[in-house]
Amino acid sequence: MSIARFWRETPRRYNLGGSKCGTCGTVYFPPRPVCPTCTRHRQSIATMAPFQLSGSGEVLSYTVVHEAAEGFEMQVPYVVALVKTDEGPVLTGQVVDLDPGRIRIGLRVHATFRKLREEGAAGVIHYGYKFAPEDDGERRPPPGRPADQVPSSATGDRARA
Ligand SMILES: [Zn+2]
Repeated sequence: MSIARFWRETPRRYNLGGSKCGTCGTVYFPPRPVCPTCTRHRQSIATMAPFQLSGSGEVLSYTVVHEAAEGFEMQVPYVVALVKTDEGPVLTGQVVDLDPGRIRIGLRVHATFRKLREEGAAGVIHYGYKFAPEDDGERRPPPGRPADQVPSSATGDRARA
């Protein structure tokens, strides 16, 4: 990516600033000037408004990268995930602060701003969002083990009867 393009994209990379359609409520990231969801696009033009994503979401899919891209050699193995944000848009990003063996679909994550890579001798440093586990990623029970399946206290009920 060219430096010029990088700087053009910097505000949204830092802020996760998207846009929201005032007509149907759909949130977009990156921001869109028109809502493709609304059947009458023109109707949405006047209602599109800046919208700040919270940065919270959950892992939809992931891959553990063992062969690093140029500039990422020091970080292998690392996890790249598709994250469905709570507001709807799906983002791609590296997941940090997590053992790659503990990544799983449904893991709650939150966007965090980190150094992405350094570029050549000029030492240009790129920053952007990455994802880190929310509450150490253990807030929700793993799939197949619902939280409400707690053994009932049969002895307590019998004592009352
Ligand atoms: Zn819309």
